[in-house]
Amino acid sequence: MSEGDFDGYGGRHVPEPLREPLEQLATAYDEVATTDEFQTEFRDLLAEFAGRPTPLYRASNLSDRYGADIYLKREDLLHGGAHKLNNCLGQALLAKRAGRDRLIAETGAGQHGTATAMVGALLGLDTEIYMGKKDAERQAMNVFRMRLMGAEVNEVTRGNEGLADAVDAALEDFARNVENTHYLVGSVVGPDPFPRMVRDFQSVIGEEAREQFRERTGGLPDAAVACVGGGSNAIGLFHAFRDDPVDFYGAEGGGKGAGSTKHAAPLSKGKDDVIHGMKTRVIDDDVEVHSVSAGLDYPGVGPEHAMFRAIGRCEYTGVTDEEALAAFRELSETEGIVPALESSHAVARAIRLAEDGEHDAILVNLSGRGDKDMETAASKFDL
Ligand SMILES: *Cc1c(COP(=O)(O)O)cnc(C)c1O
Repeated sequence: MSEGDFDGYGGRHVPEPLREPLEQLATAYDEVATTDEFQTEFRDLLAEFAGRPTPLYRASNLSDRYGADIYLKREDLLHGGAHKLNNCLGQALLAKRAGRDRLIAETGAGQHGTATAMVGALLGLDTEIYMGKKDAERQAMNVFRMRLMGAEVNEVTRGNEGLADAVDAALEDFARNVENTHYLVGSVVGPDPFPRMVRDFQSVIGEEAREQFRERTGGLPDAAVACVGGGSNAIGLFHAFRDDPVDFYGAEGGGKGAGSTKHAAPLSKGKDDVIHGMKTRVIDDDVEVHSVSAGLDYPGVGPEHAMFRAIGRCEYTGVTDEEALAAFRELSETEGIVPALESSHAVARAIRLAEDGEHDAILVNLSGRGDKDMETAASKFDL
């Protein structure tokens, strides 16, 4: 089994000019990121800049209501308001050590672009963010925030002026500037080494949660639940529990629900295909990528999840927009915690599991906070 192969998923399905830079990145990752020096610097920044460890919180009101112990891993309390910073810090440190002085990234709603702008400012790296013009108009405050931190935001005007066009523009930039540029990929997707590298940087979530859970209860949860867009917060939570008797549940963007051709659920409803440099699960051609949460709006998914699905290690289900919005409101009301709409998919899945009554202790990754979703929520709820 070669590196980056997840039981036939993954790999490096890229055009010739990108092979050499990816090989270099993989070598840098294998040689540099494993050193004590790198790990110490990474852990120090996670603690002092990002605010780790994040708390493990027993949601007592929600637990009482559903008769199961529901624990939240509070990635919403990380600097920037989501788990994305873990990965951005790791990759930016690696880029710097590999002699790159420039970061590029694409962003849809602006969350990954913002996290990239943060680490660019922190480590003094030139940072350029590609964003579809339409997305940039919709997310004007995020564009401003990225510029405030010194990033250049490039509004892409080709095609549909959306995320896919931003990816194309970023890839072209990367191919032109491989000598000094690192392409900071935002999830466990793309060609090797990204899926395993991003997983390793995000694994701190599950390592902490496992330790915190054991300290607190003396045991392990029965189930671990996370939302799945590209799949990085989910893999980050699951990895530490891989060899434990803990059931994994992934909540995908189920969109409008049964029978609809608008969703973002390649694992529960898609097919095997190659996309963005990897073999994985991809949504069907006649389906329009849609979820109420921008962070889940992706037609593919990380290859390790495709493998988990194939071997039955994790159960993946589409959670509809409506169910996610209900969970968003319920967690806000019962616990005083406003989750990101992405994370609300995981909360909804956890509530259903608690109702089913087969698990006593359920660990949920609260991947981010909901401040960014206020406008969407305000348009849905008449309060
Ligand atoms: C970006 C994002 C996601 C989706 O990305 P994954 O790689 O699947 O984790 C989920 N939750 C939040 C809060 C996000 O910002």
